[in-house]
Amino acid sequence: MANPRVGFISLGCPKALVDSEQIITRLRTEGYEVSPTYQDADLVVVNTCGFIDAAVEESLDSIGEALAENGKVIVTGCLGASKEDEIRKRHPQVLSITGAHATDEVVTAVHEHLPPAHNPFTHLVPPQGIKLTPDHYAYLKISEGCNHRCSFCIIPSMRGDLVSRPIDEVLQEAENLAKAGVKELLIVSQDTSAYGLDLKYQPRNWKGQAYEARLYDLAKALGELDIWTRMHYVYPYPHVDNIIPLMAEEKVLPYLDIPFQHADSRLLKLMKRPAAAENNLQRIKAWKEICPEMTLRSTFIVGFPGETEQEFNELLQFLTEAQMDRVGCFAYSPVDGATANELPDAVPEEIKQHRLEEFMAHQAKISAAKLEQRIGKKEIVLVDEVVEEGAVARSKADAPEIDGQVFIDGATHLKVGQFVEVQIEEADDHDLWGHIVT
Ligand code: SF4
Repeated sequence: MANPRVGFISLGCPKALVDSEQIITRLRTEGYEVSPTYQDADLVVVNTCGFIDAAVEESLDSIGEALAENGKVIVTGCLGASKEDEIRKRHPQVLSITGAHATDEVVTAVHEHLPPAHNPFTHLVPPQGIKLTPDHYAYLKISEGCNHRCSFCIIPSMRGDLVSRPIDEVLQEAENLAKAGVKELLIVSQDTSAYGLDLKYQPRNWKGQAYEARLYDLAKALGELDIWTRMHYVYPYPHVDNIIPLMAEEKVLPYLDIPFQHADSRLLKLMKRPAAAENNLQRIKAWKEICPEMTLRSTFIVGFPGETEQEFNELLQFLTEAQMDRVGCFAYSPVDGATANELPDAVPEEIKQHRLEEFMAHQAKISAAKLEQRIGKKEIVLVDEVVEEGAVARSKADAPEIDGQVFIDGATHLKVGQFVEVQIEEADDHDLWGHIVT
């Protein structure tokens, strides 16, 4: 009998991608095939995103497309938690709906509508599980949920409070990935700095050594794997200072992705941001003294309710002083169910858009100047893609999908996943060009 085949659509952020990988890994373990087309699939799972209005629409459209093309659809993910009624109203034929991080429930729903073939010996899954990323990098989710209640965000209502994975489990997965050829681990969660808080930092033994479930121990142990480890979604709490020396020694990449969201303390309090009271500029300065090579990435929101011209200018000033390397920015838009919707003094749409443009132009100048300083330097890069014109790589300063790239013209002999040393020869606002050092 042919094995049952499941189609999979994965939308949203890296945390949702990791949920998809866990579901697919379970299904493959049980003998299900993964089908790349609707036509060949016996059933389709759609992992949705519900973060902003555009993502909600994309998710609802994808469910509609899967229903039209295949007919048997199971829905999971953030939208399932926040808008179950709307999904049922628009698409009453869906077979089941669950929220994010619901591997067990999704697999149960698949069993119900597409029973597994009984053949446990011929469908062995590699120890690193099934990955949706290219073979040379992988996201590693260390916790689920969040204890904060930022006023613009509804993630805690969709994903619940913080639940950290035991540290030995995380380290085992990291080692499996490294053994399978992964060259770069991207640590993700909702709040990486909070890792282990819910476990009361419970220690576990791994390879004969005790490690506490806390950020420092995790970074230190990952540093022994001898591959790139990149930290995302770190909040600037004082204990983050402890991992900076590990970055200076390059045990983990000298790269921090810190979603600051704003610089003004009044707005940060209105946003109910974690670590809102910290002096971030002072902290960044101290970090750079220990690790001058550090790359800082952040995201910001402009046009939050009540943001004055002066507060916006303060944000621009913060960018200048912090000298961030990589920055993303959103014009504030209300999310259904977020408490920020009740705040007075909404900023008019055209002012928000104007501030967004001004912000991006301001940062582009900072970024261009910082990239120019790298011309002439020799850097190790990781090859992501080889195309007709040459190789497309990333430096230690660049995370996949969100940061810049390093183009190596003519280097078509390189292999994806290869580390190579290049000399930087050209830069624009976001990307670099270089040649191989022989
Ligand atoms: S830290 Fe704030 S923005 Fe991030 S998931 Fe938690 S509540 Fe949402």
